[in-house]
Amino acid sequence: MNTGENIKDAYDVIIVGAGPAGLECAKNLCGSNLDVLIVEKSKIPGEKVCAGGVTFNDLEYIPKGILNFPLNNLHINYKKMNIVVSSPEGLISSVDKVKLACYQIDYLKKFKNIQLLTGIRVTRIISKYLLELSSGKQIKFKFLVGADGSVSVVRRYLRLPVNKLMTTFQYTLPKKLESFQIFLDDNLFGMGYLWIFPHKNYTLVGCGNDLKIMNPKTLKSNFKKWLMLRKVNILDANLKTAFINYDYRGYKFGNIFLTGDSAGLASGITGKGIYAAFLSGTQVARDILQKHYSQNLIEEWLKKKKKQEKYIHLLKNPVLRKFFLSSGIKLLSYKKIQKRGIQAFA
Ligand SMILES: Cc1cc2nc3c(=O)[nH]c(=O)nc-3n(C[C@H](O)[C@H](O)[C@H](O)COP(=O)(O)OP(=O)(O)OC[C@H]3O[C@@H](n4cnc5c(N)ncnc54)[C@H](O)[C@@H]3O)c2cc1C
Repeated sequence: MNTGENIKDAYDVIIVGAGPAGLECAKNLCGSNLDVLIVEKSKIPGEKVCAGGVTFNDLEYIPKGILNFPLNNLHINYKKMNIVVSSPEGLISSVDKVKLACYQIDYLKKFKNIQLLTGIRVTRIISKYLLELSSGKQIKFKFLVGADGSVSVVRRYLRLPVNKLMTTFQYTLPKKLESFQIFLDDNLFGMGYLWIFPHKNYTLVGCGNDLKIMNPKTLKSNFKKWLMLRKVNILDANLKTAFINYDYRGYKFGNIFLTGDSAGLASGITGKGIYAAFLSGTQVARDILQKHYSQNLIEEWLKKKKKQEKYIHLLKNPVLRKFFLSSGIKLLSYKKIQKRGIQAFA
């Protein structure tokens, strides 16, 4: 892999973004006869805000060795109820996104047909075959892969609207808390939730909600209210905000593709998107290489995403939401129901 700044005038494939989707797409193009350039605006790939929560399905792509802990239990809290969800295969762990990106990049290093450019942004897509970098340089491509997250320059070029967005806020607390927790609260977080995800030396505490249900200002103030009530010290903590796009409108547009969050593949219920990023990166590489498999990974994932999101309109209604959450959480105390719930939402 070439990480130098000697940028050519033309590439077979340009991947915008070195998140899990972009890097996985590149991995699947390694060793092919295609000249591939990945452009990442951040100097350190993987820095983008995320809670890094992974479940057993992510292990198709992420080795257990880079997880922070073995897959542990998840505590779900609603009003006075606290249910511990677990399964024999394990349930939830966390991964440091920078460590994950390093793991993905290490693999790419063995291949000469891949070039990674960091600290430079794609500023605009000029035409179906030409784009411009923040340095002003224009580069030609045969295939373009949008792997540039929820606020995507590639998606914008395709003129695809984004009507389903989650707003999120997240603090990094400089100490490690013990357990993975989710808090549901109708008044503070509407159909969203608050999470506490421990990492090795720090803890990520964040919340998210649909932009159409609660404006970001209210969500932020409710988040602070919740933390104050729980006496969580946020003085030394760093607050970040980001969107999660879950508005899927296709991934293949001639020679231009969308993956992960740029395609709107994250779950509109949980906000979980690392798994979909990986599988869509793989599928797009297969499409570019014209490798045909019996299963289209994105279409398979969309079936599950659709099943999860079918409940969204019910959760948007405050009365129905209260009913569903109370009865749903009670049902989760039964092991059999837990197993089904895990399979549906992991
Ligand atoms: C607060 C929060 C918590 C989350 N928690 C979880 C979780 O616990 N588990 C889970 O599975 N998912 C979680 N998600 C969702 C998850 O982070 C995303 O679904 C996943 O990272 C999508 O991967 P991606 O590769 O598509 O995009 P991203 O990870 O967003 O990567 C996009 C990359 O493109 C780069 N980029 C953007 N624009 C340009 C440009 N113009 N030029 C060059 N580079 C560009 C960015 O710097 C970034 O590195 C969370 C999201 C948020 C916001």
